[in-house]
Amino acid sequence: MLRGVNDKPMYYYEEVPRSKIPIKSRFAALEMQIFCQEDMQLRGVELIWVQRCSKYQRKHDGRLFLNSVEIKGSAYMQCSLIIINAEFSDPFSVQKTVAHEMRHCWQFREFGAFSAQHFKHIFPNNEQEANAYADDAVLRLSWAKLNKKIIAR
Ligand SMILES: [Zn+2]
Repeated sequence: MLRGVNDKPMYYYEEVPRSKIPIKSRFAALEMQIFCQEDMQLRGVELIWVQRCSKYQRKHDGRLFLNSVEIKGSAYMQCSLIIINAEFSDPFSVQKTVAHEMRHCWQFREFGAFSAQHFKHIFPNNEQEANAYADDAVLRLSWAKLNKKIIAR
């Protein structure tokens, strides 16, 4: 599609009830959420699942989110809420996304940002840092689980 310079595509995401999400994905998300809470001493971050929808056709009554790009996850509301796209529900992808978004919440608080705009200004490479943290967190969580198994023998 040909777009004008200032046209921004808009993507709507609606909240999906937890009960609609495969149990393996929910477990993977919760496991990583708890890992990140402990690892970064990060409290009070709510995690919800979303899926693409149109502005006028929705399947669920929950919260509605608007984004200028397609997302796997995002952090909202001064980073007290993260949304995870249920379309990418394989456990590995879910864990990476949760760690990435939780890291944004940590960055936001750690650097004392007061808005998304201010945050981007004071921490321009926040995406690379969040990606690096997520890769590391996935490895460290796997390692912790493996250690538990070895000790349990
Ligand atoms: Zn990010």
